[in-house]
Amino acid sequence: MLVFEAKLEGKKQQYERLSEAIRTARFVRNSCIRYWMDNKGVGKYELSAYCAVLAKQFPFANKLNSQARQASAERAWSSIARFYDNCKKGKPGKKGFPRFKKHQTHGSVEYKTTGYKLSEDRRTITFTDGFKAGSFKLWGTSDLHFYQLKQIKRVRVVRRADGYYVQFCLDVERIEKREPTGKTIGLDVGLNHFYTDSDGQTIENPRHLRKSEKALKRLSKRLSRTQKGSKNRGFARNRLSRKHLKVSRQRKDFAVKLARCVVQSNDLVAYEDLQVRNLVRNRKLAKSISDAAWSAFRNWLEYFGKVFGVVTVAVPPHYTSANCSNCGEIIKKSLSQRTHRCHHCGFVLDRDWNAAINILELGLRTVGHTGTLNVSGDIDLCIGGETSQCKPSRRKRKPKE
Ligand SMILES: [Zn+2]
Repeated sequence: MLVFEAKLEGKKQQYERLSEAIRTARFVRNSCIRYWMDNKGVGKYELSAYCAVLAKQFPFANKLNSQARQASAERAWSSIARFYDNCKKGKPGKKGFPRFKKHQTHGSVEYKTTGYKLSEDRRTITFTDGFKAGSFKLWGTSDLHFYQLKQIKRVRVVRRADGYYVQFCLDVERIEKREPTGKTIGLDVGLNHFYTDSDGQTIENPRHLRKSEKALKRLSKRLSRTQKGSKNRGFARNRLSRKHLKVSRQRKDFAVKLARCVVQSNDLVAYEDLQVRNLVRNRKLAKSISDAAWSAFRNWLEYFGKVFGVVTVAVPPHYTSANCSNCGEIIKKSLSQRTHRCHHCGFVLDRDWNAAINILELGLRTVGHTGTLNVSGDIDLCIGGETSQCKPSRRKRKPKE
């Protein structure tokens, strides 16, 4: 599955209609969750049938394209299915009981093959369902020309802090050729460096993370000083969410470039299977930002692994830093201890380097467990940002008439 993204350019009134469509999609999803909670044993097909009931009951739900309603029901089902799956697997801790979605700055609605029309030159898109959002100019994707309209399986409208975007999901398996390099690599995530690899090389944390951390702090402080319900609060919130958007774009840019480079120069990449979600809840902003950067990096590693036919292995993170990579003895150390000193065989190495070697070894030994990412399902894994041509905000715009 390939995803292309473009910014939608239209009039304010049109945006409001898109927003309405997004709100309706959320309503359908939430109603499906409610229906599932109230009726025992409801499955995927019952939910999809329930969409028609909703459309009859609520005129505004009827305005939404019927396939888009189905897609919202499918979303509800996927969060239910994930919950069931977590319960079945006996995952410790929270099982992720499906929750209702609240109104947020970001949101999306997904169309399948109807409800929109792409123009012949593929520069405008027209939404044709009951919300009558009309035609929008597409900014920032020229890649669409290489594919046939039949290949577009889904069209997603995404609302972000700085505007509305459309994502085209194409039914194309992206495979690229690559000569084997005969190299393998293990990566250890550290506090001081972004990662240390099994050859002892380190990649520093990108400097912009620190910068944006400061800016985020300042903006969120400003938001908390404004009065609830005031106009200023609205402005402050928008500024903060735009900053968050910028940070996430920088993070993505960094992750994509680095992941591509790592995958292209190795035949196997091993890294720790960290429960990133737990880490992100950490109070420290800086830590949570670098964790998010790591999880983005990991997603792209797995994505490029598929594209280039490189094995990516997530190994269990236990004892990776304690084990001696030379003799296998367990050498316990505290977090502040930066060097690994084995009193068994006398081996001395940087702590993270030692861990990276262990991770590589574990990765080489593991067979059958590779990355767990489902590439097609993730909104953030959009090809657009990978190439520099897709930066709609950089380009000069024509003034609106
Ligand atoms: Zn040793």
